[in-house]
Amino acid sequence: MAFDPSSLRHLFPILSLQANDHPLIYLDNAATTQKPLLVLDAIQHYYRNNNANVHRGAHFLSNRATNHFEQARETIARFINAPEQSHVIWSKGTTEAINIVAFGLEHLLEKGDEILITSLEHHANLVPWQQLAFRTGARLRVLPLTSNGEWEDEFSQYFSHRTRIFAATQVSNAIGVSTPLQMMLNYAKQQGAFTLVDGAQAVAHYSVDVQALDCDFYVFSGHKMYGPTGIGALYGKNHALEVLIPYQTGGEMVRKVSYQATEFNILPYRLEAGTPNIEGAIGLAAACDFLCNQDRSALLKWEQSLASHVYSRLHRETNIEIYSPEKNTTLVSLSVPNIHILDLNAYLDSQGIGVRAGSHCAQPLMAQLGVVGTLRASFACYNTMEEADRFCNVLLEAIDLLL
Ligand code: PLP
Repeated sequence: MAFDPSSLRHLFPILSLQANDHPLIYLDNAATTQKPLLVLDAIQHYYRNNNANVHRGAHFLSNRATNHFEQARETIARFINAPEQSHVIWSKGTTEAINIVAFGLEHLLEKGDEILITSLEHHANLVPWQQLAFRTGARLRVLPLTSNGEWEDEFSQYFSHRTRIFAATQVSNAIGVSTPLQMMLNYAKQQGAFTLVDGAQAVAHYSVDVQALDCDFYVFSGHKMYGPTGIGALYGKNHALEVLIPYQTGGEMVRKVSYQATEFNILPYRLEAGTPNIEGAIGLAAACDFLCNQDRSALLKWEQSLASHVYSRLHRETNIEIYSPEKNTTLVSLSVPNIHILDLNAYLDSQGIGVRAGSHCAQPLMAQLGVVGTLRASFACYNTMEEADRFCNVLLEAIDLLL
């Protein structure tokens, strides 16, 4: 039997809001998802019952806070099938996790080394590498992937013995396509490069197994997978985390400090300076529990069916250009020549429909597509077929009105 989103909509109280005098239709899930009660309750429960600083204190509440915080790390490790919890480093999100790696590997890069990314990257997986290249004299190279996520024949020539770092997204946030990740990782590994996977758009939809991927680093944000903002994770293989020079230093990440020298702590604490986002970690663990309690392949199928329904309704419209694939995606990214995407966005908003119009933090990809931006409707497990249809109807109404 097909998945029925009404079975879990009541877990997301925000979805019953009115927006601009219409029932809210939230289709901006690739930017951030809404949070289920389980996550809201876990955060409140933490503050009501367990709040103290972690690791440092030796009193009742501090022990409780530390236990919950470290249990949350264990939950994340299980969620991505990391072999041990010490392989999970807390971060503010994907962006910070990539910066931790980019700064941490700087000491291993030399002039002439190469950092390879793909042409589908979010700025978060581009700018830190570009800046690292500026600082070290390394060369940033871009592996061209088509908007179908396919690669050209000369694919292998981008990987060379100078490739020191390969960083790629698993799923494009701008056009929703999945990259040929495993194949690219294999090439990169043959060259002995460090490999990083940006899982920001993958974790909410796909079951992730970092051991099967066999990447050195895997990064993601909590807020895109029904968890809170300001928390995410950096997974790393032990040797890969060990070589990182700490991006930030201070309390928590040290074992012994004198005015002459500092002995850093062991992993994972070595890469976690300062008081962490304890409530965020606990909220993110609750989001993992929420997802793990669902039939994840049914959720994915549902989300994909919403996107392909919208695709099938819109792709024959002569006025509409669609950049996302027909199948195997959870979003639809489009533009309408001669109508500004912000005007479409404003009309949809006036009818209570929240989508995203812009470059989606992927300006080089937009340039490759020949547009300044696209209008993106991105789906989550709580979206209904009626919402997908209403999006299509209101969009077509807007086009009629504005063209
Ligand atoms: N990578 C991808 C593919 C994304 O979609 C995003 C956010 O949209 C990011 C990285 C950055 O995530 P955050 O802003 O949570 O750090």
